Order: sequence, then structure tokens, then C-alpha cells
Amino acid sequence: MKLDSKAMRHLTAEDWRVLTAVEIGSKNHEVVPTPLIESISKLRGGAGRVRHSISALAKVGLIARLKEARYDGYRLTYGGLDYLALHTYASQKAVYSVGNQIGVGKESDILVVADEAGVQRILKIHRLGRISFRTVKANRDYLRRRQGGSWMYLSRLAAEREYAFMRVLKEEGFLVPDPLSQSRHTILMSLIDAFPLRQIASVPDPAALYAELIALILRLARHGLIHGDFNEFNILIKEEEESISDSGEEQKQPQPSSAKGKEIEHPPPPSTNPTSTSPSPSPDHDPTVTENNNKIKITPVLIDFPQMVSMDHANAEMYFDRDVACVKRFFERRFQFVSTQPGPFFRDAKKTVGKNGARRLDAAVEASGFSKKALKDLEAAIREQQEARGPEGEQASASDDDDDEDDDDDDDADDQETDEESNRGADNDGQSDGEIEATNDVA
Ligand code: ADP
Ligand code: MG
Repeated sequence: MKLDSKAMRHLTAEDWRVLTAVEIGSKNHEVVPTPLIESISKLRGGAGRVRHSISALAKVGLIARLKEARYDGYRLTYGGLDYLALHTYASQKAVYSVGNQIGVGKESDILVVADEAGVQRILKIHRLGRISFRTVKANRDYLRRRQGGSWMYLSRLAAEREYAFMRVLKEEGFLVPDPLSQSRHTILMSLIDAFPLRQIASVPDPAALYAELIALILRLARHGLIHGDFNEFNILIKEEEESISDSGEEQKQPQPSSAKGKEIEHPPPPSTNPTSTSPSPSPDHDPTVTENNNKIKITPVLIDFPQMVSMDHANAEMYFDRDVACVKRFFERRFQFVSTQPGPFFRDAKKTVGKNGARRLDAAVEASGFSKKALKDLEAAIREQQEARGPEGEQASASDDDDDEDDDDDDDADDQETDEESNRGADNDGQSDGEIEATNDVA
């Protein structure tokens, strides 16, 4: 499903209250009974006013009535939850406008947003359960029945966990995006002006980059962590020009993204065919220097953390080996680079955990209050998604992204639209606090 923020400006303060009431009611009810929505939202206009808002919200797909429900009730849709998160960011003045979607993973949507000053940021919306919900009806029922096991709960957990990891990694000085805010199933972070490694056809020194990435895996291990999805989509490559000044000192200059592609080749967008081989760099191309004879320095920035695990995890060795194998495989295929050194091996990395005063970041995140049961649910859901995605299937075609999870219970609520309702947009334009402006030209 795509986030369409257009309807946001048309929601009244009452509508937001009712939407929030449905969210609150969802904590204890799969389907929130209408009388409960009424009592939680406590609108001055009473039940009539609430029904009016319910109808408006259902019409734009933020809540949905369930046909099979034994009683009259609603549940929040992904769209509804998206809006609530955006509303929160807007009131924090963290997001002002919503721009283009730059990524559609199976597990998340990535959007460029901007604050009031026009500074671009990344909004990551977790969509766990999307595959199960869309493809297998049985799975959907299973998730629904499982206590607390809904997509909303899982996606929120994923976002909270990813944000917790980003914070401790940032604090420790790892190169990751700045974690700016978190709300519900979403996180807000700084935008990294860089391409994923997947899109880099050649680099000045594959051996050096390989060594840097392996060192990163080992540095994480010293802090008690394994990334768990250390692949070419989750490593962004920043390119900086290093000019050599007269004094011999190197000065870094960030490469404007518009100039990208000159010094480091970028192949066409990722193929969805996992067995396709990468294009080979042109032989007369020297990517190590620019036109001004400056050197290009490349720096990897790590992203995508909900699945991170502790070095003490029961399957830690498998996750560690998989991360290492992923780097090796990619460097061999893309850069024809094979390290002469075997490993690194889990047993050696394990000995370094917490050594020389390295802060245990796994423990720091665990201490931030995730229950064991929640973690089990999240792990199971992530594993399920990764299996469905297959090796290297990340960011596969977005073309199947035609619909949202509500395809069989669309907004059949209160079809009795009045003139007043269809005009509400005009009436309320600009009145809501922290309005989000829909735009397409931000990115
Ligand atoms: P998923 O969990 O769906 O894999 P990711 O966090 O890996 O989501 O993001 C998917 C893609 O979006 C990345 O491969 C990258 O191209 C882009 N992306 C994500 N976060 C950022 C960021 N902070 N800055 C720039 N691009 C980003
Ligand atoms: Mg990713």
C-alpha cells in the first residue's frame, strides 16, 4: 500500500479524536465496537458527531468495518496508523511535508519527507505482516487469532526495536542515520545522501572496502551485536572528494548527489532476478580520481536494524556467518574480489565481546524494555518475511504493490454521505494543528 497523505488536510480535530479512539480501543479489541469508540472519543456533539467522523474516516480508508464481525465495529487500517504517526510528527514539528517514496521493501515503505525548513528526512514505515496478510488467507486468520499478534503490534515492535538499535549505535559512534523520532510503526531518521552498495558497479579499492565492512561486523560483535541482514541493500556508500591541499593535508568535500555517477559507476536499478550478474566496470575508467585530480573517499553507512541480534542469541553463529558470507559473496560477484584470509569466525569474534571496555549494546537495548514474548513474536515474523523474500529478494518489484491489506473489507461503513460531508475538506482546510502538506516535489 502506498501512503497517500492528501486526505490529511481534510480531517477535522474531531476526526483525529475519533481515529485516536479507534487506536486506543484496538489495544483490547480486534474490532472496536462503535459504542466504545463513542465513549473513548467523548465528542461534544455526542454519538451523532462520532458517527459522522467514523463515516469520514472509513471513506478515506483510515478505518474499516469488518463484515464478519458479530457486532458493529471498526479497526484501524495501515493507512489510519500511518496518519496517526504523521500527525504526531507534525505536532512535534518534525515533519511538514511528505514527498516521494524511494523504496518499497516487502517489510517497509521508505519515504522522503521534509521539516518546515525544507530539510529532507527519511520516514521508514514498517509493514510487517504484509506478505502473510495478502497472500495467505489462513495466515491472516492465524495472525488475527494469535493473542496480540496483529500486524500493528508486530510493525510497531519492529519500529521500536530498530529505533532503539539506531540510538545506541549512534551513541557509540557507528556510522548510521541520525535517529530523530519514532511513532507507532514508523521511524524518522536523517537522509543519507548515498547509494546502496547494490547500485555501485565499481569502487577504487575493493579490498579496502571489504576490509572495512568485515571490520564493521567485528566492531558490532565486540559490542555484542550481529546485524543479521548485512547485505548490499543495507550498506549505503557515501562518496566524498578528498582534495590534497598544499600543506599535504587531505580535505574532505561531500560529493553533491547530482555529480554522482561520474567517479563511481552505478549500474541500472537493481534487477529482480537474484541470479543476474552485475555489470562489469568499463576498463578505461579510473574511479579513484576526479577531474580535479582529487581522490574519492568512500564511507559505508549501515542501515536497517529491526532484526539485529545479540552475540549471545541461540543462533548467533548462524547469523554471524550469514552476514560474513553475504559480504564475501557480493564482493566476489560484483568486484571479482576474493579475500585471501579465511573467516572471520564466530568463535574468535565471540571472545572479543565486551573486551577492552566495549559497551554491550545488546544489553543496552534489552534493558530498554522489550518483553521476551514480544521479541519471540517479532523474530518469528521477521524470519517469516525473510523466508518469503528469499535470498537477495529485497526490494523486489514494487509492481505487486497494488493494494493494501484491506482488500476484502473495504470502507463499507456508513455509505450515507451527506453534502456536508463531501464539503468538509473545504470547510476545514488549514484548521488542524500541525497540518501535513501533501507534495510530490520534495524529493
Ligand atoms: P527494509 O527493511 O525494507 O529493507 P531499509 O531500512 O533497508 O528497509 O530501507 C530500504 C532502502 O531505502 C535502502 O536500501 C535505501 O536505499 C533506502 N534508505 C533507507 N534509509 C535511508 C536513509 N536514512 N537515507 C537514505 N536512504 C535510505
Ligand atoms: Mg533493507
